[in-house]
Amino acid sequence: MPEIIVKPATLKELWKTLPGLSRNRRYLAGGTDIVTADNAGVERSECWIDISDLPELGGIKETASSIFIGSCVKISAIEKSAAARRWCPALLAAIPHFASPSLRNMATLGGNAANGSPCADGVTALVAEGAFVHLALKGKRRRLPLKDLFLGPKRTALKKDEIIAAFEIPKRKHLGAYLKIGPRAYFGISKAAVAVSVELSGGAVKLACIALGSVAPVPLYAVKTSAWLAGKKLSPEVIRDAAALVKAEVSPITDARSAADYRREMCGVLLERALDSFQS
Ligand SMILES: Cc1cc2nc3c(=O)[nH]c(=O)nc-3n(C[C@H](O)[C@H](O)[C@H](O)COP(=O)(O)OP(=O)(O)OC[C@H]3O[C@@H](n4cnc5c(N)ncnc54)[C@H](O)[C@@H]3O)c2cc1C
Repeated sequence: MPEIIVKPATLKELWKTLPGLSRNRRYLAGGTDIVTADNAGVERSECWIDISDLPELGGIKETASSIFIGSCVKISAIEKSAAARRWCPALLAAIPHFASPSLRNMATLGGNAANGSPCADGVTALVAEGAFVHLALKGKRRRLPLKDLFLGPKRTALKKDEIIAAFEIPKRKHLGAYLKIGPRAYFGISKAAVAVSVELSGGAVKLACIALGSVAPVPLYAVKTSAWLAGKKLSPEVIRDAAALVKAEVSPITDARSAADYRREMCGVLLERALDSFQS
């Protein structure tokens, strides 16, 4: 455990508090990653800043064109949100694959993204939703496509003390799917995962966004396969060709969880299943 845990009441108070704190500090949201890493002695900080109740990082809000999910909203609250259910089908499909109900009562999307893991289920689904991330640092704000936040395993574009404020998901009439292969049907880190969102028009794909987890150094946006699908009817041949294309876009590794060849093969299988599900 760190020597000190502070809990500012607002973002403004957080920025005022920072100069008085040890530089070896980290934010604490749901704690499911940071506490586990601390207990295992993998990561140690002198100070944790509890951001879990900051009002600026909570709530799910809607505008005419987007929905905004606060970075500290619990995964279980997203599952219950009518707006998220309506506008984020790929994210909603990912939630049953996310840890366990008790973990989902604690974990947040902000922590899922800041952790920078290539196997993060929530952010892989959000990349397929075409999400943007809103960041804040001492009064300055910026907005990035979420796919650009990830630089490598455990590496993100976040600056020192920069906070993830919210995720913005553009409102689109689309279908979504999330399929994951893990050591068990539920409650396991993925060997491979595929998130897909598709806008259809007259039976043809208007827009496709495909994201993959655990098969590249980052939650991967499959640029080529997504672009290739645009304008095509989802016939069995097109689906088969998309599966072949996506296998060429990933760069999996062999590790304790799985073998690179198996992971690559499963990306094709999972994409075929996801696209098949949109045909009925
Ligand atoms: C048993 C177990 C099972 C799990 N299963 C899964 C799973 O199936 N799928 C999956 O994706 N993950 C899984 N995880 C990982 C974890 O639950 C998620 O990554 C979760 O979303 C982390 O969110 P948190 O709020 O708990 O983050 P925390 O642990 O509070 O923080 C994680 C990191 O993010 C930083 N951070 C948190 N919020 C912000 C913010 N708003 N801005 C900037 N930095 C921030 C913290 O400083 C810390 O470095 C599992 C973890 C455990 C322990």
